[in-house]
Amino acid sequence: MKRRKFIKSAAICSATYGLGRWKKSAKTHALTLSFDDGFKKSFYRIAEIYEEYDLSACFNVIASGHMSSFNAVDKWILPELMGNFEDWNHLKFRGHEVMPHTWEHLNLTKVPITKAKENIDKCLDYFESHLEGYIAEEAVYNFAFNASTPELDAFALQRVRAIRTSGRLILENTRTNAMPTRNSPHRLGCWANGPDFCDEFVDREVNEFLAGPGGWLIINLHGLDEEGWGPLHAGYLDGLLKRLVEIEYLTMLPTGVLLL
Ligand SMILES: [Zn+2]
Repeated sequence: MKRRKFIKSAAICSATYGLGRWKKSAKTHALTLSFDDGFKKSFYRIAEIYEEYDLSACFNVIASGHMSSFNAVDKWILPELMGNFEDWNHLKFRGHEVMPHTWEHLNLTKVPITKAKENIDKCLDYFESHLEGYIAEEAVYNFAFNASTPELDAFALQRVRAIRTSGRLILENTRTNAMPTRNSPHRLGCWANGPDFCDEFVDREVNEFLAGPGGWLIINLHGLDEEGWGPLHAGYLDGLLKRLVEIEYLTMLPTGVLLL
C-alpha cells in the first residue's frame, strides 16, 4: 500500500474508532491499557472488544515472534501463539496502535550492553521495514519485562519518540505519569501484575486512579483468558471498557496517540 493512501485510511479509521474524542483540555485522567507480546488470538479479540466501544487498542509486539528462529520465553510466550506482521498491519489499518516491544524478548539489563543495543536496533529496523505507516518520530519502544537502564533508555530514544519501562525505576511517589504534552514525557512508567489472572489488580488500580487527582496511568497487560503472563478474562475487559467510556473526565487512548 502506498504511504499516502495508508495515512488517509488510518485517519478515517482513527475517526471511526474514537481518536476524535480526545480533547486534552477537557480531561484530567488518561488511562492506557498497554498489551504486550503479540498473541494472535488474544489481540484480535481485544481489538473486537475495543471496537465495540469505539476505542483504539494499544498493542506492542515482538518483532521476531513469527519467525522460525523465535524461541519460547518462559512458559507464557510460545511461538505457536504469536501473530505476524500481516496481522499487525491489519490491526493497525483497523485503527489500533502497534508499537515495538522487543526483538526477541531478552531482558536487556542482563545481557552485554552491545548485544542489548543491537537488539533494540534490530527490532526498530524490522518495524521500519515491515509495519505499514510506521513513523519513528511517533513511536514508543516498550522494553521487554519493563527492564531498562538510563543508558538503554537514552539509546532507544535516539530512534523513537518515547520509551515505556518499569514504573518503579522512574516514578518515586506516584503511580501515574504526567499528562502528556507535545514536548514531554519521553520516559513512561507502567505497572503490571502476574502470572495469574490480573482482573482484580486492574480493578483496584483503575478505581484508585479514578478517585485520585488525575494524570496518566499505564497498565501493562498481555493476553486474554489463558494466553500470556497475567492475563485478563475477556468478559472482564469488556465490562471494564463499558464502564470506563461513560466517565467524562477520562480518556482512553493508546500511548503513541496520547503523545501526539
Ligand atoms: Zn513482553
